[in-house]
Amino acid sequence: MFWPALPGTGSIVAMTHHTVHAYAAPAPKAPLERTTVTRRELGEHDILIDIRFTGICHSDIHMARGEWGEGGHFPLVPGHEIAGVVAEVGPAVTRYAPGDRVGVGCFVDSCRTCENCLAGLEQYCTGELGMVGTYGDTGRDGRVTQGGYATGLVVDERYAVRIPDSLPLDAAAPLLCAGITLYSPLVHWKAGPGTKVAVVGLGGLGHIGVKIAHAMGAEVTVLSQTLRKKDDGLRLGADHFHATSDPATFEALAGTFDLVLNTVSAGLDLNAYFRLLRTDGTFVQLGVPDRPLPVAPFALIGGRRSFAGSKIGGIAETQEMLDFCGRHGITADVEVIPADRINEAYERVVAGDVRYRFVVDASTI
Ligand code: NAP
Ligand code: ZN
Ligand code: ZN
Repeated sequence: MFWPALPGTGSIVAMTHHTVHAYAAPAPKAPLERTTVTRRELGEHDILIDIRFTGICHSDIHMARGEWGEGGHFPLVPGHEIAGVVAEVGPAVTRYAPGDRVGVGCFVDSCRTCENCLAGLEQYCTGELGMVGTYGDTGRDGRVTQGGYATGLVVDERYAVRIPDSLPLDAAAPLLCAGITLYSPLVHWKAGPGTKVAVVGLGGLGHIGVKIAHAMGAEVTVLSQTLRKKDDGLRLGADHFHATSDPATFEALAGTFDLVLNTVSAGLDLNAYFRLLRTDGTFVQLGVPDRPLPVAPFALIGGRRSFAGSKIGGIAETQEMLDFCGRHGITADVEVIPADRINEAYERVVAGDVRYRFVVDASTI
């Protein structure tokens, strides 16, 4: 049953089949509050997902608080780590059937014809439509997209992925953003046996990155602000754990890593981290702070080092990541919360008080 929460057939709320309960930020920095949003009617290739759980990514907070610059579409329903069950399918749907366990990540459409879309790199779509973000973006029908802090979602089947049966939906939800954001650069820069990988920041992204890098066979180091999370880091699969507040860390680890993945949501002295790379090593920026970060060219030049960025992953790679996690039993460490605690959870994420991902139980929306 998909619509048990809607009271009274014929009531104003039930007037359209696709009106769902949601939590939205009415304006930048305003607390999120309960509301409803109307999803589009099911198109030929659309599926209706009964959302069960949605992770709280730090990007949701950046967006809901207007930290990434002007405008934005408010009210905004965040949420792009969506796990649920297919409730209905459009007439031309071939990939999914009602009852299937599916996920939706950071985007719900793209042009489908540009070079990147054809290569399975939809997140880098260069077509006119571009990558259509799961929320706060404009879809091909001209409507503003609204995300996964909601009880239901309509999405084209091509932008959904299958969640392996072995993974519980609550702990799998964060894989849809945090998981793929770490998996994609680990694959691209060939992490594996014999490579040394550092993960900077043990938060939502970082903790899944440690699990995935370890499962790939890399030697994994966590670089965290303090040693407070050391036991957790080692339990998650790290071989080494160092505090970045200790200057000795940067001396001891100079020239060590093939790959450094920076998941920190705030600004850092990147140049200090570049010096941790060995010759030809790559530093990948994943966190998106609200201001530019200065680069000292010599920190890169000495050692032919690369400074790169990486954005989530394409649909096929997201499915590959989920299957990898299914085989290795990898999920997020989650704290499942009712929707009326989303605002409190935001404060706790910003304060670094989460181990390691909040997930909203959609049945409480
Ligand atoms: P998170 O759970 O808040 O984790 C961020 C971690 O960074 C914290 O746990 C903390 O780790 C460290 N940190 C926080 N403030 C810091 C500071 N001032 N100095 C040094 N370290 C600090 O956030 P998340 O959900 O993992 O997201 C991380 C960032 O990635 C966000 O900016 C988000 O928007 C971005 N993101 C990017 C992509 C992409 O495609 N590139 C995808 C998703 C998210 P320690 O306590 O261990 O130091
Ligand atoms: Zn995210
Ligand atoms: Zn495209």
